[in-house]
Parts: sequence; C-alpha cells; structure tokens
Amino acid sequence: MMQQAREALTNVFGFKEFRPLQEEVIDHVLQKNDALVVMPTGGGKSLCYQIPALIFDGLTIVVSPLISLMKDQVEQLREYNISAVQLNSTLSQQEYQHNVDLLKRGEVSLLYLAPETLLMSRTKKLLKSLDVDSFTIDEAHCISEWGHDFRPEYRKLAMVRKNFPDAVTIALTATATPRVQDDIKRTLELKETEAFIASFNRTNLFLEIRDKHRPLDQVLTFLDRHENQSGIIYCFSRKQVDELAEELEYEGFSVRPYHAGLSEGRRNNNQEAFIKDDVDIIVATIAFGMGINKPDVRFVVHYDMPQNIEAYYQQIGRAGRDGLQADCLMLFSYSDINKIKYFINKKQGQEKKVAERHLNALLQFIENNKCRRIPLMDYFGETYPSDTCDMCDNCVGSPQEVEDLTEPAQKFLSCIVRTDQHFGATHITKILRGSEAKKVKEHGHTELSTHGIGRELSKKQWKKLSEQLLIHGFLERDPEYGSLKLKQSGIDLLKGRKALYGRINTNNKSADRDSARTAASAEKLDYDETFFKQLRQKRKELADKADVPPYVIFPDTTLIEMAYYFPQNEESMRAIHGIGSAKLNKYGDEFGRLIKQYCEEHGIEEKKKRATKTRRSSRPRAGKFSKKRHHEVGPAYNNGQSINELMDEYDVKMSTILKHLRKYYKEDNPLRPEGFLEVSGLDEQAQDSVLQAYEKHGPDLLRPVHEELDGEISYKELKIMRLYYLAQMG
Ligand code: ADP
Ligand code: ZN
Repeated sequence: MMQQAREALTNVFGFKEFRPLQEEVIDHVLQKNDALVVMPTGGGKSLCYQIPALIFDGLTIVVSPLISLMKDQVEQLREYNISAVQLNSTLSQQEYQHNVDLLKRGEVSLLYLAPETLLMSRTKKLLKSLDVDSFTIDEAHCISEWGHDFRPEYRKLAMVRKNFPDAVTIALTATATPRVQDDIKRTLELKETEAFIASFNRTNLFLEIRDKHRPLDQVLTFLDRHENQSGIIYCFSRKQVDELAEELEYEGFSVRPYHAGLSEGRRNNNQEAFIKDDVDIIVATIAFGMGINKPDVRFVVHYDMPQNIEAYYQQIGRAGRDGLQADCLMLFSYSDINKIKYFINKKQGQEKKVAERHLNALLQFIENNKCRRIPLMDYFGETYPSDTCDMCDNCVGSPQEVEDLTEPAQKFLSCIVRTDQHFGATHITKILRGSEAKKVKEHGHTELSTHGIGRELSKKQWKKLSEQLLIHGFLERDPEYGSLKLKQSGIDLLKGRKALYGRINTNNKSADRDSARTAASAEKLDYDETFFKQLRQKRKELADKADVPPYVIFPDTTLIEMAYYFPQNEESMRAIHGIGSAKLNKYGDEFGRLIKQYCEEHGIEEKKKRATKTRRSSRPRAGKFSKKRHHEVGPAYNNGQSINELMDEYDVKMSTILKHLRKYYKEDNPLRPEGFLEVSGLDEQAQDSVLQAYEKHGPDLLRPVHEELDGEISYKELKIMRLYYLAQMG
C-alpha cells in the first residue's frame, strides 16, 4: 500500500518526496491505526489524511472549524482532480443537495464538514448510510479547553466518532503545548503510540529582532528587500494599522489594512485581495491570519512587539509554508513593553500572573544573544540540536561588546559645529580623517582644527557612530539637505555632561548576515526573472478565470522551476515540482506553449532536471499589474517632465517618484536616462564608480554596491544612479 501512497505523492500531487513524518503517519493510518499528528503550520499535515483518502475505498470525513479553509482545501483538491465536497451553512439549498447526491452515489473521496453540520441529525443519518473509512479532525486543539480556540461542539466529536466503528481516526493540530496534546489524546482515547509529533523548528524562516529606533524607516528598508512579495505586518493597535498602511501606500507600496474596526465587507475584500495576489502587503492587528492558507507569504514583520512567544510563533508561522525562505522581523522597544505591562496591570490574580510569566519569557527570548532557535524551541519543550542555525540574526554574526564612544562622538559633534551644521556625515568624516578632497579644500575645511583628528577610526566606523548619534537623539538630520544638526543632548554630550555607549565595530551583524545570505543563495536556482513574471501573469489569468487563488493553480516553486529548467515535453514537465497528472492535463499545454515560445525567442535550451531533490531557497520576485500612480508618472517622465517637477506635481518625496519609475521600468517600459543625471548630486567621477559597481554586483541589491564604495555614497544617490544604469541598458 505504501507503494500506492508514493505513487499518489508523485502522480497526483507532483511532489518528489515526503516531508518528515508524513510517510510514517500514512503507513500507520493505512493499517487503520488511529493517529494524532502534531506538525507546525506548513509542515504538511493535509497530505497525512489526503493520501490515505485516495487509497481507501470508502469516504474520508474531515471536520474543520473554519469555513474559509474548507473552501480553500476543496478548491485545491479539485485542481488535482480529487473528488472533494463540503457541507456547511454557506452552501445554497441546491449546492447542498448536489453534494448529498454525489455522496449517496459513492462518488466522493473527501467530505469536509463544519462540526455543527456534523452534529445535525440529518447529517448523521446521511453518514450512517455511507461507507466511512476515515474520520479526520482538523484543528484538533479546538477539543481542548486549554487551547486558545476551544469549541464546545468539538468535545462532542468524541461521541460521534463511535458511529463509525470501521473508520480510522486522525486528529491534526499545530498546537505544540503538551497539555493540549494530552487533552486531545484523552478525549479521543488515543494511545501513546499513536502520537506523531514533528519538530517545531521551521528551518526556512529567518528570524531577526531589531531595536526599534525609526520604525518606519526600518520597515521601508526591509521592504526594499522584498519588492513585489507577499507579506504581513502586525501592529499593536488599529490606529497604528491605519497609519502605517497609509504611510506605505504613500510610499508607493501595494498595501491594505486589516483590523476588527473595519466593516466585515472591507475586511473580506482586503483579505481576498491579498490571497489573490492583487495586493502585496497586509498591515494588520492580530485579528488577521486565521484561515489564511496562502503558502507564499514571504515575510512577517512585527512592527510592535507580539503579546507572547506563542502568539509570535503562530504569527511568523504564516510565512513560508511553501518551504522557500521567508523573513521574520520583529522591532522591539522598551516602550512597547510598557504598553503590554499597562494591559497586564489591569488584570488580576491568576490571569495577571500568567500574563507576567508570558511577558518574561518573551523578554528572555528577545534579549538572549545565543541562537534564537534555542530558547524558542525550548519554550515548546524541544531541545534544539545545535548551537547555531545560520538562519537568525544572532547566528549570522557574533554579538559585540558595547564600548564607551564618548570621545569620538565629541570629535564628531565638534566638527559639525565648526562647519556650521551645514554638512552630512560623509563630509564630516572626510574632514576628521584628514581628506584632501576637492570639496573639503574648496570649503577651506583642511584648515579646521578638527581636520585629521579622527584617523583612528575607519569611514565605516564613523558612519556607524553618526548613525548611533542620530538614533539616540544627539543629532538630527535635515530632511531636505541631509545636513546634521546638534540637538540639546548633543550639546550636553559635547560639553561632557552626557556619555555615549554603543557599538561601532563595522564587522557588524547585518553586514555579516548579508554575506552569509549571498553564500547561501549561491545554491538557489538562478531562474529567469522576466520569464517568471510572465508565468505569474499567466497563472493569475487562469486563476481569475477559475475564481480561485493563484496558488491553487501552481505554487511559486513550480513557476520558479519552469523558469529555470524550461521543460518542453511531457516527461520533463512531470519532473517539475507540483505537476502531477491532473495539472499536467489541465495546464501542461498552456504553460508548455509559453515556455516553447520564450525559448525560441531567446535561444534558450531546456535544462535537464535531475531526479534528486534540488535545494530551493530562491526568493521569487515578480511584477503585478496595478493601474496605479506609476502608470501616470512613468509616461509623464518620458515625455520630458523632470523629476523635480513630478515631485511638485504629486507633492511627494524624490524617493517616491524614483520608486514609481522603477516600478514602471520593471514592467518592461523604457525610461529616458538623462533625467536621472539631472538630479544626481555626484560628480562625474563618483558617478562612474557607482556605475562600475553596478556592473560588478548587478542592480538588484544596493548594499553590495554601497559597501563596494565604502559607504561613501548615500542610498538615495545609489537609487538615482541605479535607474540611470537600468535606463541606459534599455
Ligand atoms: P499544514 O496543514 O501542516 O499547515 P499543508 O498541508 O497545508 O500544511 O502543507 C503546506 C504546503 O506544503 C502546501 O502548499 C503543500 O502543498 C506543501 N506540501 C505538503 N507536503 C509536501 C511534500 N511532501 N512535498 C512538497 N510539498 C509539500
Ligand atoms: Zn540561530
């Protein structure tokens, strides 16, 4: 029978191998032994009952508390040509009757049911007349009063189960706490040997926690690395959600808010848009996420601290279900803790104690400087088997010592004062390091007493120092000119009334982290991004036509492999992840045609995919069409309007205009190059160096270019020159 199971895995689902525990569970279940399956979100629980359902002659009943998930599962199964139906209160009388008829004729493999529906006497009667082989309880933690999601009807399932003596019982949950697991076992009378508990370590999630200084900027920088990817940003309050969503929209991102204060219609609308890839980002309170099955969520950001570790784990768990890398960023500040404490203090007795314990555990997790996975797994009762993971901020760089920076800080501040607070960090650094550059001489700054007094630190270290001075409020930056000015506490520091402690070692974590990433990503499939974009468009078209989410047609992984291997016949198409018989029949021709055509036009040959597993950690980027601002800005710019004029016209910052133009370019539109040079503040020599750096590192990431140029050139200039570089290439 396991042979049949393996065939189903490849021929029906198009997967090449089982995930951990799937094979064991399926083997166990096929022998009609009951099972409790505990796997983290994205672990692949569904296959544990779906594959047996295909092999059993009789019906598999799946009880599931969330109607939206039920619909999603049924849609996905139908795409595999598996006969699945649902019975719940959302169906029309006609649909309901149709499904009942199918069941009576024995034409259904899987029946999805809401618990209320199952408990109705007419359903019980119907099911009694059918041959039931498997009784599956999804989200089984709802049985437990200790779970966060207790459903009284779920308790009754234990009784109902006895109506199907020939059926095997499978209970599935992603809840890790032993107490809830015991409760499930006890209620369903399962034996110890029948529990399958997978590791809760989600290896494809990159975990990162940063001090929250300038949260909006931090999020914008983070989003720059995630262009056109789907992601969720969690905030503490509704107000914060609205503000941040608005801010991001203004910055040109494709974003929608979600919280309980919005009408149900708007909430559903926004959620649907996210699922269907019509928008990239959802900014939300914790109200968002239940019932979302989207496998290609590429990032989760906690703009505010989460309530506790369990909530954090559940929320980041929504990222990367498809197994590709996903990034999880938490911004952490002590004032957020005070917010949480405020709410805790309103509680009383036992409840207050529990909340305090949760908060302390969370703080320990955040402040620990070992691998993040060690305390996280420990919290869930698992011992992480190693000291490092290479997928968290603490592992990818070594923690550094804090040092007294007061003296160099005073030099820096003093130099700012001596140049009348008219200059930015780069110029100040040049003076301190004794530079004889043209601009330094022109301003007579080689004559200053501070000229050359800071040679002991590198440019990068001065840069770090200036960042810390900004972050801690000693300095402020003029938003327009970028020049630095002292604030009151800066004056205090200069006069020795205050001190600065921090880290300026340039061998910093984030730099290390990026290099580690590049090393890791060398293994990724170097797929054709332009073609990937076209494939996504095709998928979106088909999905809209069928009124299903795009991921129901194919996951990103399938498209990435197509854009790498360019399969052109049936056999090689079957080798692609996610392509089984049904999908080959349905979509093979359509995608095959697209591939052939693209290969002919570009002289590309098919690559052979080896049967062994390829490690995939590629991070998809793809364009989406929106009828938005950039469709106005792009043509206006090409018709001769300057960037400055456009800034006035739309009343936005230059970065926003640049973002629109980049978006426009990414949709395969040309841009006129000259307009970018007009706004560049660099001299020709600097411009050339930047262009050379882009030539060397490619235009996708700014950081390597920034580093190549010793951090001398601002990101803003780099962005301008990147567009010039791209525009010139056509
Ligand atoms: P869970 O219910 O545990 O959260 P799912 O059953 O929804 O997880 O599976 C998560 C994703 O992983 C789905 O997109 C599914 O198609 C995919 N998947 C499951 N098993 C495998 C496998 N053996 N190989 C490849 N992909 C798999
Ligand atoms: Zn780690």
